[in-house]
Amino acid sequence: MSENRTDLAELGEFGLIDRIKAKFPLQLESSRLGIGDDAAEISLAKDSHLVVSTDLLIEGIHFDLAYTPLAHLGYKSVVVNLSDIAAMNAIPTQILVSIAVSNRFSMEAIDTLYEGIAQACQAYRIDLVGGDTSSSRSGLIISITALGYQNPGKIVKRTGAKPGDLICVSGDLGSAYMGLQILDREKKVFEVNPDMQPEINEEQAYLIGRQLKPEARTDVIFDLADVGIVPTSMMDISDGLASELLHISKESGVGMHIFEDKLPIENLTKLASSDFGLSPITCALNGGEDYELLFTVPQSDYEAVQKLNDITIIGVVKEKSTGNILNLKSGQAVDIKAQGWIHF
Ligand code: ADP
Ligand code: MG
Repeated sequence: MSENRTDLAELGEFGLIDRIKAKFPLQLESSRLGIGDDAAEISLAKDSHLVVSTDLLIEGIHFDLAYTPLAHLGYKSVVVNLSDIAAMNAIPTQILVSIAVSNRFSMEAIDTLYEGIAQACQAYRIDLVGGDTSSSRSGLIISITALGYQNPGKIVKRTGAKPGDLICVSGDLGSAYMGLQILDREKKVFEVNPDMQPEINEEQAYLIGRQLKPEARTDVIFDLADVGIVPTSMMDISDGLASELLHISKESGVGMHIFEDKLPIENLTKLASSDFGLSPITCALNGGEDYELLFTVPQSDYEAVQKLNDITIIGVVKEKSTGNILNLKSGQAVDIKAQGWIHF
């Protein structure tokens, strides 16, 4: 690739910060002061509580630049944080982005990363209000902190699920994991033969998109509010459904019972998983990175849940002593075990 390459050293830290600031005009009234002072200033509406979450992303551990375009990385880094805010039933409003970059990266590369961040800010109507900038010995490190707000009575934790509640998930499961499998396969082919063109068809593009450009389900938070549902517990599915079910089970002191035939799995995911010799159920349970929402609602909300778009009831909450169970189509019941991703 022939391209203009400007050394970051030439631009300097303050030059880079100015460049970032210019691309992120503040859009929310609550963002009183953004980049450029010692701290940002945010105004809080009456009766709203601040919800805050942070994530650290390290090159080689959490992302691989061999198949993650920088703009996608910027977008996804923001989205995974917004997903955590949504998982509290809160609306994300501001982010702070800190980066450490080695001299391997040009100003243009960092511009591309921030283009992805800016796209996410536009898509979710949030403001970038600050961050920190450092050099690194090797590789890229991104840390994002997201802020959001909600009325204290509507903030949803992992602790409130009750026996009798319905277990719901948004969207479909396992597709991001299949996207990763496809990218991994193409990367290996490329390593063996760099002239080989990637073998990616339109169907696989959906799966790869789910991996490279996930979305935070803030739309579900608005929809829940519209139909008057406050879930009893909620979290986002980053490590895989099984792992998240066990978290709610532990935190709420309940048993989570789900049904194989209710799991929302796209046909594309089923097809791809059979290509790879994987079970689609395993992909849905343990795949991770779907960034869908898992939540429980009282049974009295059944009718209201039916009105929601893109939400599936996958099971029911029972007493803790009954364990965490996946009911298979065959009639067999198996224990749910966590196999989330451990980044060590
Ligand atoms: P300090 O010395 O107080 O850390 P900096 O010079 O690092 O100040 O930051 C100056 C301003 O620029 C602050 O408002 C800070 O939040 C912002 N800032 C620094 N780096 C970034 C970044 N990578 N993205 C967004 N804002 C940044
Ligand atoms: Mg600083």
